[in-house]
Amino acid sequence: MSTQPLSMQEILRIDQQHIWHPYASFQSHNPLFVVDRAEGVHLHLASGETLIDGMSSWWSTLHGYNHPELNAAAQAQMGKMAHVMFGGFTHEPAARLAAHLVRLSPDGLNKVFFSDSGSVAVEVALKMAIQYWHAKGQTRTRMLTIKRGYHGDTFAAMSVCDPVTGMHTLFSEAIMPQLFAEQPRCRFDGHWDEKDADSFLQLLETHEQDIAAVILEPIVQGTGGMHFYHPNYLKTVREATEARGIPLIADEIATGFGRTGRLFACEHADITPDILCLGKTLSAGYLTLAATLCSDTVAETICSAEPGVFMHGPTFMGNPTACAVAARSIELLEEHHWASQVQNLERALQRGLAPCRDIAGVREVRVLGGIGVVEMDEPVDLKLWQPAFVRHGIWLRPFGRLIYMMPPYISTEDDIARLCEGLLNTLKEQLRAA
Ligand code: PMP
Repeated sequence: MSTQPLSMQEILRIDQQHIWHPYASFQSHNPLFVVDRAEGVHLHLASGETLIDGMSSWWSTLHGYNHPELNAAAQAQMGKMAHVMFGGFTHEPAARLAAHLVRLSPDGLNKVFFSDSGSVAVEVALKMAIQYWHAKGQTRTRMLTIKRGYHGDTFAAMSVCDPVTGMHTLFSEAIMPQLFAEQPRCRFDGHWDEKDADSFLQLLETHEQDIAAVILEPIVQGTGGMHFYHPNYLKTVREATEARGIPLIADEIATGFGRTGRLFACEHADITPDILCLGKTLSAGYLTLAATLCSDTVAETICSAEPGVFMHGPTFMGNPTACAVAARSIELLEEHHWASQVQNLERALQRGLAPCRDIAGVREVRVLGGIGVVEMDEPVDLKLWQPAFVRHGIWLRPFGRLIYMMPPYISTEDDIARLCEGLLNTLKEQLRAA
């Protein structure tokens, strides 16, 4: 094959013949757009359109695309070494990033395990919990979680995703059976009713001796329904797990680094988990990187008994380029005053999405921090809606009945207004056509 650039048509042809996309089929093609370059909040398509980004490439690109400082951090590191094995070696980017993570995460999480993606960070967390009990001389492998959760696509992660909307039916013979409490009903800013945690507390009590850990997404259940639940639920879970000495795993892969208005969603309930999973935003949408943090107690227990080491070690662990970008991204978060950036996003989303409430077919509009959700009565047909968003100059990717946005933190008031206007116009157009 020549080294000449490929035309847009050639890219699409090769793609349709050979490349899998997330949750996609080779038989029925969803619309696909060739993106040529991106800058700030703008995505430039090979077909000539420029779109305002409302997705931050699935919660990751918080400072926008093609950021000069992040480019410089990546380039400087690649000029030294793009990658080096982490067995027997360490390096400045990993040390710098670990120090930032320990400093900023809820108190007491002092040990950092780097891995490659969110799902793997969850696998690592679950293995930590199982090895923790093994070190204490007990065999405990079951996880307790809540319905409508989402924790990734690998096997153990899948096993703690919602049993109905997740992939349990398809893979039921292959995944570990776990315990599922009812989804919390009390809304983030609604009235708190203690009964909301009854199902969770009952399962915890009944299966106390089998449970290796509790895992949940704090405050925001993302892919499972964009549901914002009450901080007292999280407080109750923390108190109950702590009282029984059962590790609590907080999956902040989507919520970490300010998205909900607090640096970590656990802060809404003022709790510290025993194990914390981070990913997505961690490396600012540049390179794939995740981290699992744990308490000294968890780490020391694991290392105090046979085999004396934690049994996990990926090839790309602590990738120096990804760590260098992630460390710089955290410094930028602080320099850019992320809290006021997210507050501005929240205000702009509230204002911009409010008119959607008046449209028949819209069930609910909700906003938390830098997350805006328009929940529809009926599922949205991607084949029709995605090209319509593009025609209106915006990039959104709904799933099911949910149209949601989590724009980059650098988005201006005007960017958000245009994003919301594009959504509103698409809503009117598509519902009229339906
Ligand atoms: N946990 C949560 C809460 C997530 O939102 C996701 C990704 N959507 C994951 C885990 C899995 O992360 P990844 O896609 O990087 O494997």
